Amino acid sequence: MRELKITPIVKGTVIDHIPAGMGLKVLKVLGLDVQEIKYTVSLGIHVRSNKLGWKDILKIEERELKKSEVDKIALIAPGATISIIEKGEVKEKIKASLPKRAKGIIKCPNPNCISNTGEPVEHDFVLVSEKPVKYRCKYCERILDDVLKNII
Ligand SMILES: [Zn+2]
Repeated sequence: MRELKITPIVKGTVIDHIPAGMGLKVLKVLGLDVQEIKYTVSLGIHVRSNKLGWKDILKIEERELKKSEVDKIALIAPGATISIIEKGEVKEKIKASLPKRAKGIIKCPNPNCISNTGEPVEHDFVLVSEKPVKYRCKYCERILDDVLKNII
């Protein structure tokens, strides 16, 4: 089988097992689709995978992810694995799972919700269903089922 030639990284983060086609979305929510960043980002789209058939894979050099970023990845690509690389070795491996509580990473679709009226209130959701993915707004009880569209 042909292997994708992406050089292994010495330090940074590898996000593997992203469902095929979602890699660009991950890139976007992490803000890596801009010119100003000063490190190398490699995105493999439609890479062969024994487990998934096809997958996307993202390698980010010199950068660790914040907790909120890991949670956002879980919303886009549940089941993805996030490996922290140091000195060429995997220091930590995290499996992206849907956060039970999503604070400040998705926004409420209800325009009249207190979290959308300019009040100093942070968007706050509770996971109510994993399949399909559904979150309930803590303030107005509105159920959010189109998570991808409402990621902040
Ligand atoms: Zn709301």
